Amino acid sequence: MNYGAIKKTDIANGPGVRVSLFVSGCRNHCPGCFQPETWDFKYGEPFASKTEDMIIEDLRPAWIQGLSLLGGDPLEPENQEVLLPFLKRVKEELPEKDVWLYTGYIYEHVKDAPILRFVDILVDGPFIGAEKDVSLAFRGSRNQRIIDLRNGWLVEEYMKERADRFMKDPREGESFDQKIL
Ligand code: SF4
Repeated sequence: MNYGAIKKTDIANGPGVRVSLFVSGCRNHCPGCFQPETWDFKYGEPFASKTEDMIIEDLRPAWIQGLSLLGGDPLEPENQEVLLPFLKRVKEELPEKDVWLYTGYIYEHVKDAPILRFVDILVDGPFIGAEKDVSLAFRGSRNQRIIDLRNGWLVEEYMKERADRFMKDPREGESFDQKIL
């Protein structure tokens, strides 16, 4: 697997300050993709064991909330092969860090991929220019979903239900938070 970039203090691709790894290779070829150079599996540098070690060290500080995987597409089979053992290591060594993964694939088509056992939040679906909305947090187009794999929740559904419960009774809203988070 190759990768195009590593951002050590990223605040755009998930909550908090994160380390983001942009892997190479994507077969989705979404029209309007903002980084078509990353479709090529040979783009960038080889992802070596020293790259893994560096990311693990970059993740260690308490103020780093987690790791985001973007592309290219981390769920291309070739990329999953390399990322699965890497994510397993991240979860073993740094269980307190959350993992976000961005894919152009639809969740329902990839839900059985073993790598998803080590992913907390999946942002799914292709980028669709007609659905582009710059006001969206952590995603480019409205069709893309932020899915909490830990709780089986679409985060948007959660936010809506949470807001409804707080409107009805703040105490109910708080207990809902405790149940879900
Ligand atoms: S999935 Fe991502 S990298 Fe691949 S074409 Fe779509 S927007 Fe570009």
